[in-house]
Amino acid sequence: MIKILSEDTINKIAAGEVIERPANVVKELTENSLDAGARSINIEIEDAGLKLIRVSDDGIGMSRQDMTLSLQRHATSKITGFNDLEKLTTMGFRGEALPSIAAVSNITLQSSAGRSGDGWKEVYSAGKLLESKACGCPRGTSVEVRNLFFNTPARRKFMKSEPTEKLHITKMVEEMALVRNDVSFTLVVDGKNIVSAPVAASPAERLTDILGPDSFKKMVYLEGTHPQISITGFITKLEESLSNRSTQYLFVNTRPVNLGKLITHSLNEAYREMLPKGRYPGAVLFIAVDPSNIDVNIHPTKREVKFSKEKEVHDFVYSAIRSALSRPAKLDLKNDQAPPPLPRVQTFAGTSPSRAEIKESSHLYETKPSTNKFFSSRQENEGVSGNLHGIQEDTNIRPLGQIFNTYALVQYHNDFLIIDQHAAAERVRYERYLEQFHKNQITSQPLLIPVTIDVPPSQALIIKDNSRTLRDLGWDIAEFGKNTLKVSAYPNILGADIEITTVVGNIIGSLSEEKRIEPKEKIEKLIRAACRASIKANDQISNPEILQLAKDLFKCNTPYTCPHGRPTLIKLTKDEISRKFRRNE
Ligand code: ADP
Ligand code: MG
Repeated sequence: MIKILSEDTINKIAAGEVIERPANVVKELTENSLDAGARSINIEIEDAGLKLIRVSDDGIGMSRQDMTLSLQRHATSKITGFNDLEKLTTMGFRGEALPSIAAVSNITLQSSAGRSGDGWKEVYSAGKLLESKACGCPRGTSVEVRNLFFNTPARRKFMKSEPTEKLHITKMVEEMALVRNDVSFTLVVDGKNIVSAPVAASPAERLTDILGPDSFKKMVYLEGTHPQISITGFITKLEESLSNRSTQYLFVNTRPVNLGKLITHSLNEAYREMLPKGRYPGAVLFIAVDPSNIDVNIHPTKREVKFSKEKEVHDFVYSAIRSALSRPAKLDLKNDQAPPPLPRVQTFAGTSPSRAEIKESSHLYETKPSTNKFFSSRQENEGVSGNLHGIQEDTNIRPLGQIFNTYALVQYHNDFLIIDQHAAAERVRYERYLEQFHKNQITSQPLLIPVTIDVPPSQALIIKDNSRTLRDLGWDIAEFGKNTLKVSAYPNILGADIEITTVVGNIIGSLSEEKRIEPKEKIEKLIRAACRASIKANDQISNPEILQLAKDLFKCNTPYTCPHGRPTLIKLTKDEISRKFRRNE
């Protein structure tokens, strides 16, 4: 028998699509505030949004009637018919968000559309009105969502781990802040101020606020116009590439969206062959296009956008990036013309480094005496590795030199080995680091002058949420203001000759991947990330060093591949060589 679903059931089902997770709620509420013309939006989260999400704005507010209507399905003040979709300029348009959120939470709306202090308040539980009365709230709207998913226990249980959720929310607010520099944003997570971005005069100023002044300085301005599309933005200079992909943002008509295959391809192609392997561009791209040329309605949470002329958009973005990259530095006025105002460094703890201090510290680190300990971080754990492959102090290893500054040649019994010195050193270091971890033997090297690194709030949060694991792995990384990490110690095993910024970038990259992983897997991943960046290719290496490397490699559990799966050596047996010379025919 066919039945018409009740309004309540319809809302719960819709909630499942629109409100998959707390971050979606924050996004919908923030978009409503933007649509209401807010100049200031304050967001508060507790317990990753499951306990509390509160979004307050100073926008146009809602009258008493509007407030009641706002919780009805498909009630919207933004469009009146389907044709309006084509010229949509607001963020919301479905009229689904508020009723969907209300269906799965306890929601309190407070709003004043007229004079401050002359407002209305309504309290709902699972969509049912509990209370409705006048209130003395300021002009604007505040929406408070408590106990999200309390009546859909399966969904609540399904929520990702708390750090992942906090990260999503932070990232989302970060994105909104990047694109709407005309609006002030704050994000408070469990009582702690994570994002605070006062109204900024230009996108450049806001970028400085969100990405940190040092990161911003590493970028060039980009622009391009075409009758149907225009792009502006900032991309990292070729020589300032990053060691992860986390600092890439795309906005289409001020809507934060995923880069998607199309724009990722444009970006990668534009930098192709100009960046060393494992280095990535940072990018903040603002695309403006006639709304009739895109479809934002393809995805319930509107994270994806489909351009009607994909090929043209791809090539347009590509050439804009190329021309920005090839612009001679001295013509690069746009970026310098309006120099970002002095950074408003705001800190959690109240202390903030001066620009000079930051500069100085990274400089001093570089001049730290660096004995080339590339292959010889052996001292501290001599005797730790057992004899894993029956190869003891083996005098049958004969180092034969190096070719192309990359491969070490070795004779071992009746085999001729070509060892990829980089892959081999990485394997050795990886296994040693892991072993030290399991045996609780990790030692740290304090940095006399800590290294500071600029990161956006979401990346600072990643480090904070993993600080215990990182400490166990020999790192001391603390927040130093909302955009800055301070590295005060690093694991000894990485040797003296490492670039802290790159290694930490790698670590952030490996931690930002979406997938949820087991603690054991995470440790291995972090160690892999640290080892990858800590070993440099193209080093000259002497015969004694080759001997040591070969010995160390042979003692590994998995000597034939590097931690990322590349081979560490190629073997030619004496027989094979003889056959090639037709000696034994
Ligand atoms: P949509 O944004 O798609 O219109 P929503 O369910 O998000 O649908 O909101 C319904 C309506 O409630 C909006 O069209 C708007 O008129 C009103 N509204 C929601 N949030 C606010 C706010 N913060 N300030 C003013 N009006 C709001
Ligand atoms: Mg909306």
